[in-house]
Amino acid sequence: EPALQCAAALHSPSTGIIDSHALMLALQGDLENAGGMVVCHAEVQEAAIRPGGVWLRTADGTELTARTLVNAAGLHAPLLAARLQGFPQQFVPQAFYAKGNYFTLSGRVPFSRLIYPVPEAAGLGVHLTLDMGGQAKFGPDVQWVESPGDLQVDPVRADAFYAEIRRYWPGLADGALVPGYAGIRPKISGPGEAAADFEIQGPQTHGVAGVVQLLGIESPGLTSCLAIGAHVAQLLA
Ligand SMILES: Cc1cc2nc3c(=O)[nH]c(=O)nc-3n(C[C@H](O)[C@H](O)[C@H](O)COP(=O)(O)OP(=O)(O)OC[C@H]3O[C@@H](n4cnc5c(N)ncnc54)[C@H](O)[C@@H]3O)c2cc1C
Repeated sequence: EPALQCAAALHSPSTGIIDSHALMLALQGDLENAGGMVVCHAEVQEAAIRPGGVWLRTADGTELTARTLVNAAGLHAPLLAARLQGFPQQFVPQAFYAKGNYFTLSGRVPFSRLIYPVPEAAGLGVHLTLDMGGQAKFGPDVQWVESPGDLQVDPVRADAFYAEIRRYWPGLADGALVPGYAGIRPKISGPGEAAADFEIQGPQTHGVAGVVQLLGIESPGLTSCLAIGAHVAQLLA
């Protein structure tokens, strides 16, 4: 990578990208083959632990009772855990939202691999990813926000991106960065605190049979999704 400026670098030949939509589709296929069903647009608004299992009511009024509840509601997982009547609330962490903005590169990228600077406190640092179409994008940065719905990329943040990226790619041209998109990390540690690990709580932790809470599943939650799934199955076995 001759365009890269650095004192030293680690080469990770197995680092790569995946098509996340194709992965979700494959997992849905596995689930349906096993007799399961994915139901979208079914927000759980009320839940309670009852003698026969966990009672749930969704936005359209559907009620059901489940033997097992795995709360994998991402940004809303602490909120859903707090809504679960009968669940010991001392196990529900405070939710924090750390937005990650991306800028895309207009023009040719001189790199053929993903480039990661040394990580910073709350994120991985502004790194270079080449997406499935070969498009280069830089991000995500860390912007603490109040709302999990705040997904606008503020073009003013480009200034900080130029400075960060030029530390390892001095050849980045003025005007080459275009606002891309943003995502929000489901944090359970706040600004200035040490980064929290995934918090996966099973019955052994909170004492409620049949319930698993997945809290603070930020990056690399996608990469580790199969391992997390196996761990959850073990907690419920
Ligand atoms: C900017 C950014 C970059 C990232 N990059 C990477 C990466 O490169 N590699 C990596 O491994 N990970 C990455 N991650 C992290 C990864 O996206 C997450 O770890 C992963 O999506 C977590 O999966 P999840 O199923 O726990 O939650 P989510 O993917 O957030 O899914 C939660 C689901 O629950 C639903 N839901 C919420 N509330 C309710 C409710 N009350 N009732 C019913 N449904 C509800 C939501 O609609 C959503 O569909 C990144 C995250 C961000 C923000």
